[in-house]
Amino acid sequence: MSQPRNRKLPVHSELLLMVGSSLTVILIVVIVTVLLSREHASTLQAAKRMATNITQLINADVLRNVELYDLALQGLIAATSRKDLTQAPAAIQHLVQFDQSNAAPFKGEVLLLDANGAVIADSSTLRPTRRNFAERDYFQAQKEDPQAGLFISRPFKIRCDCDQVWRIAFSRRVSGPNGEFLGVAVATMRLAYFDQLFNRLTIGNSGSVNLLNTQGILLAQQPLLESDMIDKDLSDRPNFKRIMREGEGSFQAISTLSGAKRLYTFTKVGELPLIVVVALSSEDVFAPWKRAALLTSGATGVLCIGLLWLTWMLRRELRRRYRAEQVLSELAATDALTGLPNRRILDQRLQLEWDRAQRSTEPLTLLMIDVDHFKAFNDRHGHHGGDEALRTVAQVIGSNIRRPADLAARYGGEEFAVVLPHTDVKGAWVIAEHIRSSVERLPLVAGAEQPITVSIGMSTWDKGSRLSLEALLLGADQALYEAKHTGRNRIVDAGLL
Ligand code: GH3
Ligand code: MG
Ligand code: MG
Repeated sequence: MSQPRNRKLPVHSELLLMVGSSLTVILIVVIVTVLLSREHASTLQAAKRMATNITQLINADVLRNVELYDLALQGLIAATSRKDLTQAPAAIQHLVQFDQSNAAPFKGEVLLLDANGAVIADSSTLRPTRRNFAERDYFQAQKEDPQAGLFISRPFKIRCDCDQVWRIAFSRRVSGPNGEFLGVAVATMRLAYFDQLFNRLTIGNSGSVNLLNTQGILLAQQPLLESDMIDKDLSDRPNFKRIMREGEGSFQAISTLSGAKRLYTFTKVGELPLIVVVALSSEDVFAPWKRAALLTSGATGVLCIGLLWLTWMLRRELRRRYRAEQVLSELAATDALTGLPNRRILDQRLQLEWDRAQRSTEPLTLLMIDVDHFKAFNDRHGHHGGDEALRTVAQVIGSNIRRPADLAARYGGEEFAVVLPHTDVKGAWVIAEHIRSSVERLPLVAGAEQPITVSIGMSTWDKGSRLSLEALLLGADQALYEAKHTGRNRIVDAGLL
């Protein structure tokens, strides 16, 4: 049979379907990824804003308090250098010297040390006890550097065993009229001040607020990550180095203390050698985002898989339908008895090949084949026997045409037609003769005396001939008629009539 049998869905339809749904899936994934990453960025932004607000709050509070301590020290130094006060009673001198000292919260002692570090005035008593603080960093710093200004000491605990709380000291140099070192004014502060300040701020479960000096010494931490954190030197930690380098800002990094990823937001406290660092746990910050992202990705995944599954189902259904349509159209084109293409296909192909031959000027031959004395055959062998014989003849005709463009069809009744494109009289004659002789050589049907034979009328259009398609058909018909009248079981070429 020469009808093409392509039962697969046309490639371009399938490709369009698959590419379309794949692109849709990719687009959905891209959109969801972009939205999630924007959400991630805005979560980070919000956490940074919150942490920055906290550092600003701490900054302002610490600055105000340090200013109070500085005022107390400056008041003490100013009062000490007043000559007129030396005549005043000791109680009045004490009152003037420590006038400013009571305003600061968490205040410890305010002392005046001489050039050797000995206490010469004490805010808590008129008669200071004999003590010397020459070895303390706040004394040494002022002694060595006339430009030290307000010095903030490392954390320390006082020597007496009255309490064991951490303190820091603020000191200022007392200079003579020519800049000579006369001593140091010093005020101590309990670090509990910072704890109380930091405690007022809400920063989540695993975050911490830290105050360090610029040497990397931790002055306060809330909540404390380890019990011995205060006074710890963190100057060699990479995160501290980065904080010192950048001065102010925010970054995410792994904490060398906890090993967890943290969002550090930090600022310097005014012009003081202090840095506030708010460290938030990245896990905490992104936990709500992570939940939403998991939910969204899950839903997107299900949606995409559903879409691909639907596409696959649709493709399967389309293929099934296409196959059914193909089968139906084949059935509509096939003669049920012989399995050869029917008259409708013959007419279409004949017209097609005719047009093609006109363009290419290649020859085109048409054979009209009619079974001889078939009425008599039917009468003798019955209708069923006749049908069987027609099927056999059809098979013989079909097996004698081999080129893809050739077509054998049932014309009607016991008549067949063969279209032979690119075939001239000589070539067509060979094929016709093959058909005729093959039919004649068929084994005798039981009870028959004569073999089945066919008569063939042949008509050829050739370059230069002035035939029309109708004339070609008529020619083959007339040649067949001639073959019948000249004895049957023969071939007649219309060109010779
Ligand atoms: P001729 O040699 O001149 O062609 O004689 P003929 O008897 O073959 O020609 P005629 O046209 O007189 O008879 C054709 C017969 O073919 C008539 C009909 O009974 C038979 N026939 C046509 N179609 C079928 C069919 O599908 N099955 C069967 N069994 N017979 C058919
Ligand atoms: Mg006939
Ligand atoms: Mg006949």
